[in-house]
Amino acid sequence: MNEKEIIEIEERLMANVFSKRPVTLTKGRGALVWDIHGKEYVDCTSSYGVCIVGHSHPKVVEAIKRQAETLISCHALFYNDVRSELLQKIVQITPKGLNKVFLGNSGAESVECAIKLARKFSGKSEIIAMMGAFHGKTMGALSATWGKKYREPFKPLLPGFKHVPPDNLERVSEAITENTAAILVEPIRGEGGVRIPKNGFLQGLRELCDEKGILLILDEVQTGFGRTGKMFACEHWGVTPDIMCLAKSLAGGLPLGVTIAKENIMSAFKVGEHSSTFSGNPLVCAAACAAIDVVVGERLPERAAKLGKYFKERLEELQARHKIVRDVRGLGLMIGMELRFDVLNILLKSIDKGVLILDAGRNILRFLPPLVIEKEHIDKVVTVLDAILEEEENERLRS
Ligand SMILES: *Cc1c(COP(=O)(O)O)cnc(C)c1O
Repeated sequence: MNEKEIIEIEERLMANVFSKRPVTLTKGRGALVWDIHGKEYVDCTSSYGVCIVGHSHPKVVEAIKRQAETLISCHALFYNDVRSELLQKIVQITPKGLNKVFLGNSGAESVECAIKLARKFSGKSEIIAMMGAFHGKTMGALSATWGKKYREPFKPLLPGFKHVPPDNLERVSEAITENTAAILVEPIRGEGGVRIPKNGFLQGLRELCDEKGILLILDEVQTGFGRTGKMFACEHWGVTPDIMCLAKSLAGGLPLGVTIAKENIMSAFKVGEHSSTFSGNPLVCAAACAAIDVVVGERLPERAAKLGKYFKERLEELQARHKIVRDVRGLGLMIGMELRFDVLNILLKSIDKGVLILDAGRNILRFLPPLVIEKEHIDKVVTVLDAILEEEENERLRS
């Protein structure tokens, strides 16, 4: 099939819910991907934060191959060797005290599980979430998500969800009632524009929750697993949640969602009250075991911290040179660059020049490269962006 045919088929047969980019990717390795014509790109998207260990990491490939030949499917009704191995690894790398795991298949599902669990454990129904939050698009997760464009067409959503301004402990406190089950928050808002919390906010939430007997749920679906320079972003602030949601990067590119909680909390679920057919699928578990080994063995969180600092400094140089850049912010290899106008044109131009970048809202460029990215790739991204920003600036001056 040629590219024209591929595009025609996707346009015709696939639900029209993705804002498509004009590239057909057919191969990836590390932080690089190639399109159908063999053109190379530096990937600062990681498929939306998924391939943290790089595309087709050899150890993940090997684990998938081996498991595929052994056992692809095994319902959680039965015990399984790689699943038990994965459970141990997850408990090992997550903050102390979190030690009971539900395995799902996506980020939204990990949030669904957290919402149900909070309600079941507490016997209360209200959840407080943040304005600007993103927690996924299934009906429960969507009820916690903020964006109007995601929510409006699907009302009524779940009752009992309140949104408060982030970084404002007073407003959170005011929103708490006798029926509040949990506070749900992303340590760093990803879709919301790479927003780092004000110092003291997450600690304050933890204290508030302890004081009032409310659960703290951290959605680390995007920030988790080394992305921000620590294994989990909550470690930057020394905050341990009662329930944590993980997904995206956890299985080296395969779909896996994880909800992990303190044992007494997860025990609120009785047999049959929550499950999923693919829960703990061996192929996914094998890939996740390999991915965790790579993240730990190659010290990818440290690498993210080091290279993230370098990347951010280089982007700050661009900010100093180009007036159209309003702000550069981020932690580790989760970086946002806010411009003074719509970024779509810049995204398209960078594709032309061999760089893939994400947006986060109308005017923010978001960089979520694989943590195995090399310095020289970062330099290429910066050089390409420098030229594009220059061009955009000149065009704006002329018009
Ligand atoms: C991506 C994301 C989700 C949703 O994950 P899906 O796998 O797309 O359902 C939830 N929370 C956060 C913070 C995310 O970044």
